[in-house]
Amino acid sequence: MENAFRFADDLGPAKVIQIHEPTCGLKAVLVVDNVAAGPSIGGLRMAQDVSVEECFRLARAMTLKNAAAGLPHGGGKSVIFGDPRMARADKERLIRAMACALADERDYIFGPDMGTDEQCMAWVKDEIGRAVGLPREVGGIPLDEIGATGWGISHATDVALRYCDFPLAGARVVIQGFGTVGKNAMRFLAQQGAVLVAASDTRGTIHDPAGLDIAVLTALKAAGKSVVDHGQGKKLERDATLDIECDIWIPAARPDVINESNVSRLKTRLIVEGANIPVTPAAERVLHERGVLCVPDFIANAGGVICAAVEYRGGSQSEAFTVIEEKLRRNTEEVLAMTREQGMLPREAAVNLAASRIRKAMATRRWGVY
Ligand code: NAD
Repeated sequence: MENAFRFADDLGPAKVIQIHEPTCGLKAVLVVDNVAAGPSIGGLRMAQDVSVEECFRLARAMTLKNAAAGLPHGGGKSVIFGDPRMARADKERLIRAMACALADERDYIFGPDMGTDEQCMAWVKDEIGRAVGLPREVGGIPLDEIGATGWGISHATDVALRYCDFPLAGARVVIQGFGTVGKNAMRFLAQQGAVLVAASDTRGTIHDPAGLDIAVLTALKAAGKSVVDHGQGKKLERDATLDIECDIWIPAARPDVINESNVSRLKTRLIVEGANIPVTPAAERVLHERGVLCVPDFIANAGGVICAAVEYRGGSQSEAFTVIEEKLRRNTEEVLAMTREQGMLPREAAVNLAASRIRKAMATRRWGVY
């Protein structure tokens, strides 16, 4: 029994459910981490190499993100063990079976994640009526298409600049990972005068200190090409973004891209974390000591889940933009003020903010009185 509780601490997880449906080969896990603020929202990940531990860590990250965003939702995550590129009919069967297995698990609301998309969420909704990140045709707000996370990042950046000594207009920005999050964040920042000096994807980096054309890069990516196919600027290798001098550096690709071995290469003044866990804790500490401000991931990239929560309540796209703006600005300000006043790392302040909201919510629950 002790083994079943190996992840347990004072916040959760509330439930860990193993799902096995031999007739269709479904093997899956759901971790509902904490539901004090409301039913958990978290993505359904499909991959061959996921683990229960990964599922727990991701569920906890959602608990913190949802609490920090002040949403009436706890954190959860589910994983299906399997290749997401399997034949569509097989994938549909697995996902529908997964939804049915969890039909009565009202503490969990499905969302899309790695290996699943809005079509998968439509299958879940069709089975059990409880999913976010849906196609527009069934009441969804297409959060990637509208750039919900990028919109939030642009506001987090704007607020963070109150704690830096340079304005957004004319600021030189580097985007690592010019995908959904990266390109949309840059689009909104450019509307306020920021200049994109370098962008990368898996195939390389493009660099031009005079500024790159965001619309051209976006069109190249939409056509399945790379940022390095831009006719202008200098083509460099993928990780060259690390060495490019800039004012704002936005990681929007993979985890752990800034770590102890390469953090000394960065020449920037502000990092706004678009990707999840892009900077290791040790590297965040080094940056803090060097005076580089780092806005933590679960504060800066909460726009997507806020949009999903608005969708769940039947809200509109314009309402989602308003709520994201208001929450991102307030939370970034709160975290950075705490960082400055108490001399702590921004991540410590962010975790404190989230954990104190979770504990207050937990204290209102029935079991808290015993
Ligand atoms: P995406 O697939 O649309 O874009 C990722 C981009 O990064 C692609 O252009 C890819 O070529 C590039 N890339 C991958 N590895 C790279 C590397 N090592 N170096 C440089 N470029 C690389 O994905 P996305 O939806 O934009 O998500 C990006 C990150 O943001 C992920 O960590 C994701 O978990 C996180 N995130 C996304 C959202 C959202 O709303 N989509 C919300 C919160 C967090």
